[in-house]
Amino acid sequence: MNTSTMAAEAAHGARSPAYAPEEVEEEPPSSALLRNRARFFGDVSEESWNDWKWQFRNRITSIDELAQLIPLSAEERAALSQVTSKYPLSVTPYYLCLIDPNDRNDPIMRQAIPCVREITMGGFGLEDPLEERGDSVVPGLVHRYPDRVLMVLTNICPVYCRHCTRKREWCHGAWTRTSAEIEAMVDYIRRNNNIRDVIISGGDPLTLSTRRLEQVLSALRQVGHVEIVRIGSRFPVVLPQRIDEELCSMLSRYGPIWLNTHFNHEREIGPESAMACDRLLRSGVPVSNQSVLLRGVNDSVEAQMKLCHGLLRIKVRPYYLFQCDEVQGTEHLRTPVDVGLDIIEGMRGHTSGLAIPTFVVDLPDGGGKVPLQPNYVVSHTRDQLALRNYEFRLFRYRNPAPSRPSNRRRRNGKRLHPSCAKPESQTGTVALPLRRTR
Ligand code: SF4
Repeated sequence: MNTSTMAAEAAHGARSPAYAPEEVEEEPPSSALLRNRARFFGDVSEESWNDWKWQFRNRITSIDELAQLIPLSAEERAALSQVTSKYPLSVTPYYLCLIDPNDRNDPIMRQAIPCVREITMGGFGLEDPLEERGDSVVPGLVHRYPDRVLMVLTNICPVYCRHCTRKREWCHGAWTRTSAEIEAMVDYIRRNNNIRDVIISGGDPLTLSTRRLEQVLSALRQVGHVEIVRIGSRFPVVLPQRIDEELCSMLSRYGPIWLNTHFNHEREIGPESAMACDRLLRSGVPVSNQSVLLRGVNDSVEAQMKLCHGLLRIKVRPYYLFQCDEVQGTEHLRTPVDVGLDIIEGMRGHTSGLAIPTFVVDLPDGGGKVPLQPNYVVSHTRDQLALRNYEFRLFRYRNPAPSRPSNRRRRNGKRLHPSCAKPESQTGTVALPLRRTR
C-alpha cells in the first residue's frame, strides 16, 4: 500500500475484515527496519540510534511530526489531531521503523498509529473498566488480590499502544510519582504482611532512570515479606536499547525479579528485542509475554502460532493472551471472545503446551482474571469422564475413587469452589444487572 493509502486508513479506519489474513511474502523484521531507518532516519548516527535516551527524546509525538514521515492530507491531519488531543501519540523511531508501509494490514501500525475510530466509536466501553481506581489503597497502588499489589509509578510509555487498558491515564499530562508518594506505597506494603508479590507496571516503569528504579527496588527489598517483584514493561519490544548492561546489572542485585513484556506480533521479534530478552535472562530475570488479542493484529491461529514460536526461540514464555479490555477508544481493536477460544482450540495439540498462553478475560468492575479454554469434557460422572481430544475423538477416562472428600462443594448439583461458597446473594455475580455500554 502506498503511504497515502496507509495514512487514509489510519485516519478513517477502513480496512478489510479480520479473520482472513492474506498470505503475504514476509520479509525478516531486520530488513524492514534497516530500510525504513535509512529512509526516515538516515542522518542519525549508529551511536545515537543505539542510545535509548536518544530514541526516547526523539519519539514522534505530534501529527505534524508523523506527517513528515507518512504523508497525510490536511483532512487526515485534522482528524488525527482530534484523536491525539484526547489520546496522545508517542512512537519511538525504532518501533516506527518496524512498520511496513507496503503492507495494507500492517499489524504494528494498528497498535501505534492513532485511528479516528478511537473517538468515533468512543461511546463503547468505559474509562476504567477494571475499576482500578476503586481498588487503589494509596495513590498509584492497587490492592485487589490478597497476596499481591500493583504499583504504577508513572503514566509515561515510550509508545502509547492504542489498545492500552490505562489509556485514561495519558490525558492528564506526563507524571511520575514523587518520592513521598512512593514512600506511601512502600509503607502500605510494609504494613500488610500478606503481600508477597509486587507488580510494577505501566505506564512503563523502565521510563524511570535506572538510579530511580533502583531506589524503589531497594525499598521493596527491605520489606521482609515481599518475596518477588514483577516488572511489566514493553521496552524489550518498542525500545530494546533500554535493556542495557547498567540496567541488567542493577536488576540482578534485587532478584527474584520477573519481567512480563508485551509482544503482540511476530514482526516485533527482531535481533534487537532478542538481545534485550537475552540480556535480561542472563541477569537472572525470567521473561514472560502477555499479549493482547487484537483485531487485525494477531486474531488468527496462524498469527498466534508464529508469535508464540518466535517467543520460544528467544526463550520468552508465552504466558497470557488477554481478551482486549472493554476500554473506551479501543472498540475497533476488540474481537469477540470466541476468537480467543478458537485460537486456543487451534493451537492445543498442534504445538507444544509450552507455546500456548492462557487465554484470559479480565472481568469488569474489579472481578479479576478468568482463564477461558475450549471445553474438552463431554460428560462427567463420579466414575468416569468422556473427554474429547484436539482431533474431536472421544475417549472414556476412568475416574479413580477419591481417598478423601472432594475439596469442591456442590450447590444445586453444580460444582462450587470453596472460596465461592457464599450464598449467591453475596457473591455479586448473579444478581447484578449487566452494564450497558451502548
Ligand atoms: S506499554 Fe503498556 S501501559 Fe504503556 S501504553 Fe502500552 S499497553 Fe499501555
